[in-house]
Amino acid sequence: MIAVIIIVIVLLVLFMRSASKKEERALNSDRLFVGFDDSIHETLSQQDRIQRSIEHNLGVKKILPSGYSGKIIGTTGNIYMTSLEYCQCMDFKRRRKPCKHMYFLAAQTGRCSYELKDGRYIIKRNS
Ligand SMILES: [Zn+2]
Repeated sequence: MIAVIIIVIVLLVLFMRSASKKEERALNSDRLFVGFDDSIHETLSQQDRIQRSIEHNLGVKKILPSGYSGKIIGTTGNIYMTSLEYCQCMDFKRRRKPCKHMYFLAAQTGRCSYELKDGRYIIKRNS
């Protein structure tokens, strides 16, 4: 019985350590969103997502202190688990590319800001 408890605790610690390593990797990545090359943000469809992240009425339910993930309130009031790698929304599920919630999260946590220049959004990294 004690052996089972010890094994469960060890597995839990290993799981938590790998989760925090994943967060650390994403937060320290040279890329805005780990897993996506920064050139992706130049495309028209991604520019559109950046614009939506600014102009749509999105909100914050909760953001982890690390800035890796949070609960973002969508335009229709739905709440999405959003991170620097993933979002629960349909847009992300369909396209597997950063959605407006992810761009919103990144701006809310101070990871970046968006500057409109000659009709295009330029991403300024803050950290
Ligand atoms: Zn989303």
